[in-house]
Amino acid sequence: MTKRAHNFCAGPAALPTAVLERAQAEMLDWQGKGLSVMEMSHRSEEFVAIAEKAEQDLRELLNVPSHYKVLFMQGGASQQFAQIPLNLLPEGATADYVETGIWSKKALEEARRFGNVNVAASGKALDFFDIPAQSEWQLTKGAAYLHYCSNETIGGVQFDWVPEVEAPLVVDMSSDILSRPIDVSRYGMIYAGAQKNIGPSGLVVAIVREDLIGHARSICPTMLNYKTAADNGSMYNTPATYSWYLAGLVFEWLKEQGGVAAMEQRNRAKKELLYKAIDSSDFYTNPIRPAARSWMNVPFRLADERLDKAFLAGAEARGLLNLKGHRSVGGMRASIYNALGLDAVEALVAYMAEFEKEHA
Ligand SMILES: *Cc1c(COP(=O)(O)O)cnc(C)c1O
Repeated sequence: MTKRAHNFCAGPAALPTAVLERAQAEMLDWQGKGLSVMEMSHRSEEFVAIAEKAEQDLRELLNVPSHYKVLFMQGGASQQFAQIPLNLLPEGATADYVETGIWSKKALEEARRFGNVNVAASGKALDFFDIPAQSEWQLTKGAAYLHYCSNETIGGVQFDWVPEVEAPLVVDMSSDILSRPIDVSRYGMIYAGAQKNIGPSGLVVAIVREDLIGHARSICPTMLNYKTAADNGSMYNTPATYSWYLAGLVFEWLKEQGGVAAMEQRNRAKKELLYKAIDSSDFYTNPIRPAARSWMNVPFRLADERLDKAFLAGAEARGLLNLKGHRSVGGMRASIYNALGLDAVEALVAYMAEFEKEHA
């Protein structure tokens, strides 16, 4: 059996071993057709079936209502930062944005190129260690939408509540989609770059309420218009076929695991174990207010940053990979997406205790 490390990378992130094994088994000869999914026409009966099954499984997993389109697009989550205002922000209108960290800031800065952006709230005064309470938000009357990021992958801050505003909610769920149940009907649009909890990078999945589609600016490029994707089953041009297929395998795997409710249980156990290890020691710290702590991305620091290198080297020697924090934050970060089991977190926590004993 191939030896697999525990990969704590923030993204592109670990994929379930079972999914990769299945892809490997099907690589040269997909279901007796004598060719790889990579080599199939996107118009072929076979690929269309793969694509439709992936969409259907995602709809089941998230209980997506029928008046929402599921779009499989390219350009990652970052391209959505432009696509969202091009499609949803009419000339002269204002969009509200909530700033809770680096990703939501990028989104609002990009939107400023296209129209009026009101920063309804910012966690900056809280050092982005917490999410500003909704009672403090300065909302725009008649805003085209409110954009926020449900999980700030870099800072490790996550909403454990859904904003209640009049404008449609547009949410960047790149790093926490499918990690626990959500009520899709509360959102106007959900989007997620695939490489955290869905599949390979480059692909972005969007779930868009139908009434929001079809109002793009006249300057919106055809390829960036949600209507183009919606009207063409996300196949106006050649989609990222292999990534779509792999995403479908991940969705199948999720269903086998018991769906997002089972993921929630598993993810809760994982994050509780890790935060407990951090909080019960003076050697490790995480600065985020407990209610806003991310279940998916856990940044932590060592008491003495001169030990960072040794910590990372020791971790790597034990097959605990990619624990280095984002360059803007420093320290460590453990990303514990769906594909990582409790065993990965147990191995990390055991190593942390051992390292502390040696160096404290
Ligand atoms: C990774 C990430 C992005 C950027 O995704 P790309 O696919 O690289 O564009 C955006 N938002 C969040 C929350 C992310 O975690």
